[in-house]
Amino acid sequence: MRKIFLSLLVLVTISSVAQDLPKNYASLLKEVEPELIAWRRHFHEFPELSNREVNTGKYIADFLKTLPNLEVRYPVAKTGVVAVLKGGKPGAVIALRADIDALPVYERVAIPFASKVTTEFNGQKVSVMHACGHDSHTAMLMATAKILSTMQKELPGTIMFLFQPAEEGAPENEEGGAQLMIKEGALDDPKVEAVFGIHISSQTPVGTIKYKSGAFMASSDWFTIKVNGKGSHGSQPWAGVDPIAASALEGLQHIVSRQMDLTKAPLVITVGTINSGVRSNIIPETAEMTGTIRTLDSKMQVEVHERIKHTVKTIAESSGATADVVIDTKTLVTYNDPALVKKTLPSLIKAAGDENVSESTWITGAEDFSFFAAKAPSFFFNLGGMPKGTDPRKAGPHHTPDFYLDESGFILGVKAFCQLVFDYGKTK
Ligand SMILES: [Zn+2]
Ligand SMILES: [Zn+2]
Repeated sequence: MRKIFLSLLVLVTISSVAQDLPKNYASLLKEVEPELIAWRRHFHEFPELSNREVNTGKYIADFLKTLPNLEVRYPVAKTGVVAVLKGGKPGAVIALRADIDALPVYERVAIPFASKVTTEFNGQKVSVMHACGHDSHTAMLMATAKILSTMQKELPGTIMFLFQPAEEGAPENEEGGAQLMIKEGALDDPKVEAVFGIHISSQTPVGTIKYKSGAFMASSDWFTIKVNGKGSHGSQPWAGVDPIAASALEGLQHIVSRQMDLTKAPLVITVGTINSGVRSNIIPETAEMTGTIRTLDSKMQVEVHERIKHTVKTIAESSGATADVVIDTKTLVTYNDPALVKKTLPSLIKAAGDENVSESTWITGAEDFSFFAAKAPSFFFNLGGMPKGTDPRKAGPHHTPDFYLDESGFILGVKAFCQLVFDYGKTK
């Protein structure tokens, strides 16, 4: 009985928030799907690296300029585009975000529109591939802009379309990404009240949505640790100070396993490179390690920084060495505002169907979207892009040459965006 009552309550809550969209919506969706797939294939075939999305940005801006009722701002944050659509009815100011950059990855998937693009990256010749699915994000947001601009009269509030460059990180010594968009005022005119973003997932089945309230994706910090010792003959370590032995390689893992409360949130510290020495019988003067820290709690992020500095320095000192630690924050924790999630979850359920929306675990990957989420209440969720019936462990992971998306999953992203803006827009 209690169960029946609860399900009734859920149904009532859903129907009171999620609404039917204007009559022509279904035909607009049907009409836009082949275009959406064609746009995605175009971006997939001609991918561009972070802060180099020159043709991608222009393609988006040129298309948006053909739509009715849209004010297009271009370029924003070097190659990005912002478009503003004022609805015919009063309501909230909502931003929808898509990222537009690709990665230095060689495409191994045999599809007719596979990328053959090569370019230079950090002084090396590399292949370029949309190996994170940002091509689909861009195409989904273009399709959303087309539908919403057509339904402008019925649309409540104002929609800001954010086409963001450099999600994967701007090249060294360059500004870019969400932070540069924010700096250039992308959320200010008019002032954005809520931001929504989608990330496609190659390991989540098509037709499904996964979300998490509160902390969803990790903060990402990159660190460099340099240990300064004293060189000596390899046969006489006591005559020098061995910087390799004085490095805190194991000590860093003790911070994770012995010092932090992992019942509150997960923590990852990974050392990705170690460089020291030139020959087996020489104790070198210095050793350098670089790595990444992932946290899902912003307080923990601050505490871990302090513990790393303390651990590295005291371990080095105990051997007579010194150590320098530099920590560079790349992204914040992607935090989904719990009140916004609660309010808008019925819209996702309406778009995808109750059985297709489920809660996600924490994700230790990071997202530049976190900077938007730090500025306004936000909701970032995952959309399925894996062919049905595939074993997720066998699906090509993001950032790899085998990354693959099932295009039939994209239209749900458009439906989710449209449903969110109509429902949330009206709540003001
Ligand atoms: Zn990525
Ligand atoms: Zn991505």
